[in-house]
Amino acid sequence: MQEECKKWVEWITGIAMLKNSCNLAIKELRKWMKPEKVKTSIAVFPASAEIVSEPLGAILVISAWNYPFLLSLDPVVGAIAAGNVVVLKPSELAPATSSLLAKLVGEYMDSSCIRVVEGAIAETSALLEQKWDKICYTGNGRVGCIVMASAAKHLTPVLLELGGKSPVIVDSGINLQVACRRIIVGKWGCNNGQACVSPDYIVTTKDFAPKLVESLKQELENFYGKNQLESKDLSRIVNPNHFARLTKLLDEDKVSGKIVHGGEMDKTNLRIAPTILLNVPQDSLIMTEEIFGPLLPILTVDKLEDSFDLINSGAKPLAAYLFTNKKKLKEHFVNTVSAGGLVINDTTVHLAVPSVPFGGVGESGMGAYHGKFSFDAFSHKKAVVYRGFVGDASIRYPPYTKGKLRI
Ligand code: NAD
Repeated sequence: MQEECKKWVEWITGIAMLKNSCNLAIKELRKWMKPEKVKTSIAVFPASAEIVSEPLGAILVISAWNYPFLLSLDPVVGAIAAGNVVVLKPSELAPATSSLLAKLVGEYMDSSCIRVVEGAIAETSALLEQKWDKICYTGNGRVGCIVMASAAKHLTPVLLELGGKSPVIVDSGINLQVACRRIIVGKWGCNNGQACVSPDYIVTTKDFAPKLVESLKQELENFYGKNQLESKDLSRIVNPNHFARLTKLLDEDKVSGKIVHGGEMDKTNLRIAPTILLNVPQDSLIMTEEIFGPLLPILTVDKLEDSFDLINSGAKPLAAYLFTNKKKLKEHFVNTVSAGGLVINDTTVHLAVPSVPFGGVGESGMGAYHGKFSFDAFSHKKAVVYRGFVGDASIRYPPYTKGKLRI
């Protein structure tokens, strides 16, 4: 039964979302493609104008390992819908999916429109040497810089889907059980924290922190039992390198004694239990790097509003979440916190709303996709102005004499 449920969750996050993208593009494509009639100005009267979407040309899609099917094919849906041809380079860290994608795309799709190139750094670097009409890269910011530098050599535009430290602000006076369940499923349910939009850290008030920690512990136990290290509902860490990176975050002297839940690790099986840390210093490694794993630090502030300055003082995150019932706080959050996307009273669910753009800002990326935004991301918006032969004002033409001004 448990295996069945797990497969169901994997199907939703890996396949169902992709299927929705395909269905939406098929259903809406005619509308998306339609030239958009726009107003003209008096300066060109009489005239009409429209914006015509044209394909950019050849698109390179480089994807990441953590949702290897979705992150590979979702941008492809937009690129193909917009009329482009695509080369897809899946992540070598998910080798089974990479080779399956190569096989299935080769078997079922038109090879004059889409090809898969498998490989790691050498192959990706060779692809990046070529001239593309757009590069869509999903992954970490360090490689994002490499991609952007290569693209700059050919003035190629980029869509960078990166990551960051996505905060969760938790107010008091809320339905704490529901809030904790939504934080937990966003953090540990999504690949055990190895998701771009999973909560990276929590900010709450000093007074409320103990109650929040207790509730998180309780719900973690309800979800994953007493021995959470062995829970079959939690993913393993993808490889020994990432395991070592996460261990280093916990081993730093600055965070010793700060663990209030979890901390157990199994190096052989690459398992780390859900781990909560309270009041870690802001200059610790765990608070300066994207965690991308099952560790969740909680920071405390005197007033919840202070958390907005704290978030805005760092790199712009891919997502930010707020749990509150207070209207003013919600407004203040929406108006002051800069992030790729915001969700109030839940985590990660904006991913499943195709009517809003999905993408980062600042260090968390540039450009956005999903739904029509995918079509637009891979189209050139061509300005077209239509004129006839009447209304040919002589003032436009030399010689520019005073007489022409006296109309
Ligand atoms: P990864 O290791 O799978 O790398 C991503 C891609 O970059 C791969 O295809 C890989 O071959 C290529 N690559 C790696 N090193 C390279 C190099 N030196 N030169 C050229 N290409 C290179 O994935 P990752 O980077 O570990 O992914 C995790 C990061 O991605 C996190 O920061 C996460 O937040 C972010 N992410 C963002 C999104 C999003 O949609 N915004 C989705 C998933 C992950």
